[in-house]
Amino acid sequence: MDAQLITNVRIVEPGQRIYPGQVLLRAGRIAAVEPAGAPAPPHATRLDGHGGLLTPGLIDVHTHGVMHSIYESGPEALLSAAKELGRFGVTYVIPTLVPRIEEAFLRKLEQIADAIPSVHGVRVPGLHLEGPFVAIPGAACATVDGDLGLLEELLAACRGRVSVMSVSPETPNVLPVIERLCERGIKVFLTHTRATVEQTQAALDAGATHATHFYDVFPAPAETEPGVRPVGVVETMLADPRATVDFIADGVHVHPMAIRAAVAAKGFEGVVLITDSNIGAGGPPGEHDTPWGYRVRIREGDAARHAEKNFLAGSALTMDRGIANLLRWLDLPAEQVWAMGTSNPARLLGLSGQGTLQVGAVADLVLWGEDLHPVLTWVEGECVYAREETGV
Ligand SMILES: [Zn+2]
Repeated sequence: MDAQLITNVRIVEPGQRIYPGQVLLRAGRIAAVEPAGAPAPPHATRLDGHGGLLTPGLIDVHTHGVMHSIYESGPEALLSAAKELGRFGVTYVIPTLVPRIEEAFLRKLEQIADAIPSVHGVRVPGLHLEGPFVAIPGAACATVDGDLGLLEELLAACRGRVSVMSVSPETPNVLPVIERLCERGIKVFLTHTRATVEQTQAALDAGATHATHFYDVFPAPAETEPGVRPVGVVETMLADPRATVDFIADGVHVHPMAIRAAVAAKGFEGVVLITDSNIGAGGPPGEHDTPWGYRVRIREGDAARHAEKNFLAGSALTMDRGIANLLRWLDLPAEQVWAMGTSNPARLLGLSGQGTLQVGAVADLVLWGEDLHPVLTWVEGECVYAREETGV
């Protein structure tokens, strides 16, 4: 593949700086990053970025669907969702499923896992299993005691393509599950929990590293002694330097002040943006079927909700809107906010050479318009999305 030089852009090096420059892509990697005005290499096609921001592609570690697709419905949904994600600036995604303990679900997991190598338009390393070893069901999760046999069945059905499993610290027998997952190189997130300080510390000792959709389905413990504020999993995750957290930054699930508190406790590097998006996210208002036996309703400015009972059922957020919200809400340098959708999730997943615009990194990148919507998105140096007016 020919080299491509993207000139006249403001390069976002997440967490570090934003500066005018140009980026050379070759063979799916970033071959050079130079200040503005550096001589162009011969034989490179040129693309004028018109002064737009150029960032690494966004990484979503917790999402159930987008537009007309819900990952859990089968391999077709995975393949079609993958084609939509570039328009939201997402280049790397961990499709999130809510495991049910039934034979038919295991067969579906096999089909979805088998389809992963055929995905085009976004990179998918593996699946995120939200449950079944959680303590509070939330909108759909099974709540099952820790069981290594069941864990192995689930991992086998996923053909080993599991990147993340979310569990609760207070689930009986969960510690051997956490240890087994860590042995397999699978990241363990904590969620759907009202765990105590001690239970949370034990989960961290066993190898859990992160809390997902922090504050959501983390009920506050009840006051047992009037005048004494109870503490639990939330305070432990904020205080423990081993732990990081993520948020659904849609303005519905979490108050921006809660995100500010987490940034104050953990530094910007300890906070990650997710969508936890459901079917319909990024699309027009409407209602959609789900595999969980109910329909969800998507409305402007709201989350995804159970169409009849109105409870929250994931979000209608996309990563680009989440970044725009965080830029508005957090009093932080923009490069630190961009880190929450790029280098921070890359670090969380243990990825090197990703979530950055440094030489040698994978050429997953996004050129942004003034309106903070993507103009062009590249995955491994290949343009997977071009906003219509660009004519690219
Ligand atoms: Zn979820």
